[in-house]
Amino acid sequence: MAFEFDMYGLSHTGHVRTRNEDTLLLDPDAGLAVIADGMGGHPGGADASALAVRLFVDEFLREDVIHSSLAWGETMARSVAAAHAGVRKAVQADPALEGMGTTLTAAALTPDGRLIVAHVGDSRGYRLRAGNLTRLTRDHTWVAEAIEQGILSTRAAADHPMAHVITQAVGIEYAPAPDIEAHALEAGDLLLLCSDGLTGPVPDDAIRATLLSALAHGRLDDAPRRLIAAALANGGPDNVTVAVVQVRRSADATESEETPISPAA
Ligand code: CA
Repeated sequence: MAFEFDMYGLSHTGHVRTRNEDTLLLDPDAGLAVIADGMGGHPGGADASALAVRLFVDEFLREDVIHSSLAWGETMARSVAAAHAGVRKAVQADPALEGMGTTLTAAALTPDGRLIVAHVGDSRGYRLRAGNLTRLTRDHTWVAEAIEQGILSTRAAADHPMAHVITQAVGIEYAPAPDIEAHALEAGDLLLLCSDGLTGPVPDDAIRATLLSALAHGRLDDAPRRLIAAALANGGPDNVTVAVVQVRRSADATESEETPISPAA
């Protein structure tokens, strides 16, 4: 079975910040969706997230990976490493940029139905399948790791002063070790990538309900706007970026399975 991907995305500065340091890239033809949430950099520009996403995509598309899908995990790891090296180079050229860094969550979707997620930081990837919303990424935050290790309770973590401290980022002094995972796709799957500007103010239940409602109305294209509206209604404390990907059977594949009809003589 061959798959195709419809991608919809949107980004908003939010109600509190003056700049949007998130970056969103959607390339349905390459089967690639990337979200990055930057920090630091120059007030006038030089966004870590924009730079990292550009470098990631350049490396990802450098080889003809679309037609040789044997080494997707390696390609994703190499692309994250290229993004990190490029941001470090920018920092070394201008030491005032030290501290500039970014989260990066990338989803590569293959025509033969695989999803490879590369992830650094506290942006998130989710999958909605048969009405169930499943998180595909774990937050690289001090608090999430303390919960995993049993040092901190989920309740104590909620308003912990270190709630937003991330332990890994692209472009900071220590090279990130991205989580890279492969998943099998099914027709009808929905993927969501988002920055913490969504998952901070909007609980998973509300995200799930919004996606299901957009699906029921046949308006998945409107889902990013509605999710961002929910974040803004809950204060919009941060830049908020949302990408939604719908997985469907390729139309070409359906046609080729049908008996060709000869033109009338
Ligand atoms: Ca953020």
